[in-house]
Amino acid sequence: MNTDPIVVVGSGPAGLATARALIAAGHDVRVYERYANSDKVGGLINLWTPAVKALQSMGVDTDAMDLQATDSSFHSASGRHRASVRFDPELDKQYGGHFFGILRPDLYTFLRDALPAGTIQTHTTVSSFADAGDSVEVHFADGSSVTTPVLVGADGIHSTIRPGLWGETPIREHNLQAILGNTYDIPDGVPLDECIIRHSRTLQGSYAPFRHEGRPGIGWYFVEAWDPSTPPLSQEGLFAHAKELAKQFPREQQLLVEHSEGTLVRWQIRDRGKPLRQWSKGRVTLAGDAAHATSPYAAYGAGMSIVDGYFIAQSLAEVDLSDRDAVTAALAHYDSLRIDHTTDQIEQAYMLGQLFHHSSAVVRPIRDFMLDRTRFLQKMVGEKSPGEIAKQISVMGDGIRGAA
Ligand SMILES: Cc1cc2nc3c(=O)[nH]c(=O)nc-3n(C[C@H](O)[C@H](O)[C@H](O)COP(=O)(O)OP(=O)(O)OC[C@H]3O[C@@H](n4cnc5c(N)ncnc54)[C@H](O)[C@@H]3O)c2cc1C
Repeated sequence: MNTDPIVVVGSGPAGLATARALIAAGHDVRVYERYANSDKVGGLINLWTPAVKALQSMGVDTDAMDLQATDSSFHSASGRHRASVRFDPELDKQYGGHFFGILRPDLYTFLRDALPAGTIQTHTTVSSFADAGDSVEVHFADGSSVTTPVLVGADGIHSTIRPGLWGETPIREHNLQAILGNTYDIPDGVPLDECIIRHSRTLQGSYAPFRHEGRPGIGWYFVEAWDPSTPPLSQEGLFAHAKELAKQFPREQQLLVEHSEGTLVRWQIRDRGKPLRQWSKGRVTLAGDAAHATSPYAAYGAGMSIVDGYFIAQSLAEVDLSDRDAVTAALAHYDSLRIDHTTDQIEQAYMLGQLFHHSSAVVRPIRDFMLDRTRFLQKMVGEKSPGEIAKQISVMGDGIRGAA
């Protein structure tokens, strides 16, 4: 028997969830993270039901996470309703909702605290690997190395493991940026159980609730076209810019921004272009953004990363890790469960970003007429996409040791 721990590279949502799930499946795991802690900066994050099911199955206490369930609706900037997200009512009943808000640092803390002490080794950068057949050699930037029966690259969009498996794939710039902030000073008229998504001709302005240590808060965000070669703004510049953007939306969005000074973060939106049709090779696989970096238009990148961990563990649950063929087959099975779903999400999220922010000035009024007067958005983001996400619950089966 090969008794070395499984190695996971990266301690973002994908790496932490994969480690927790593999431990639930009975395997020993070591996570290597290049920084002191994975990046704790960031505002609101929303998780769909499959991520919640995955977390519960791997032994994370989701009650303690105090997830805030929300409905979601899409509107024009002037307030015209365009779509409402509909989910499977039975699942809504079972999970207490389908779209749950939490602050990103809180999500990371809960995931990290669910791991046994000593699982994560920080300040350790993985530089390369070599699959030697019976095991994988993992090399670190300081010149040291370990061997492992399985290597999981959960090292984000700039993964070191992915090009080692499949070669370089270029970054696809969406030419968009997101600006996020949050506040506990909640203006009148802001619902505490609904995610409001509004679009002007060129800008998305949205907000949704979360809870932090029992206290209700609101996370808001803008998405706008942005030239990635433009230097990023200072915190002060970003705040002034966000206040300017908020003027395109109703008063409560302007107040939310005004109440959020000091909390703003900015993200450049990008992915890896044409999604891979295979992630795993031999004893090595990928999870999270390393496999399927996705625009936040899906609000699902972290959720999909968590579910990846669940499926990796489920696929490897009863596998003798010294048996190379069995490991390879288990990882190929994981690929088969994940790639079609994540590919659809990547492409839809990219398409929505282009539709809302990169339509030409001539097309925008026609687009908005269609969004206001037809069921296009209702069908797409209100029903089709949530329906596909709901289907993942049955694909997940009865738990990490209970494949569907
Ligand atoms: C603005 C914005 C809003 C979003 N909102 C949502 C949302 O509402 N819901 C949702 O589900 N998703 C959302 N996402 C997506 C989500 O943030 C990502 O999909 C998720 O963080 C990916 O997790 P990951 O663990 O794969 O990668 P990462 O979070 O990037 O973690 C990778 C980790 O690997 C480490 N690492 C990298 N290279 C090495 C190395 N060589 N050696 C050791 N360690 C290494 C890094 O330091 C990092 O800690 C949003 C994204 C953005 C930009």
